[in-house]
Amino acid sequence: MAMNQLPLGVPGAESEFERIEVRRSTRRKKTISAEVVGRALIVSVPERLSRAEEQQWVEKMAARLSEQRRRDRLNEDGALARRARDLSRRYLGGIEFSDIAWVNNQKSRWGSCSIDDRSIRISLELADYPAWVRDYVIVHELAHLIVADHSDRFWAIVNRYPMTERARGFLIAKGIEEG
Ligand SMILES: [Zn+2]
Repeated sequence: MAMNQLPLGVPGAESEFERIEVRRSTRRKKTISAEVVGRALIVSVPERLSRAEEQQWVEKMAARLSEQRRRDRLNEDGALARRARDLSRRYLGGIEFSDIAWVNNQKSRWGSCSIDDRSIRISLELADYPAWVRDYVIVHELAHLIVADHSDRFWAIVNRYPMTERARGFLIAKGIEEG
């Protein structure tokens, strides 16, 4: 059994796990698994793995599990949906949506909105950004339920949210595209 310090290159993992422990098992042939015990991440790997491979897997597992935990927390008791309903009431006349959820497959786009089923997807990338940026994206996607394109009419609605200009600047600087 080897003990690892926190891995390199896994944003957010430091705040999720106090320590990372790697267990090497001769019985394991191929499978790599990870579990969270208390505040520790335990990664089990086959004995034959090289140190470099081990490091790669530890980083991969730490990234995956910390992301999952972050998402779980953000979804706790429907926190995201509650926030969206709040913003909708405040800036969009209470426009209704069917569902809002975090997704991790939209690295270059901040979010999307399906007009057909009135559902909204928000990139998990935003979970690490300031709340006013995330709120702007929610307002932006909700506004698409009123105006589908990015016309003046659309922006007139979105601009009711006072942090719109600042948030747009923030996202442009991050290289994230409008959804
Ligand atoms: Zn848009």
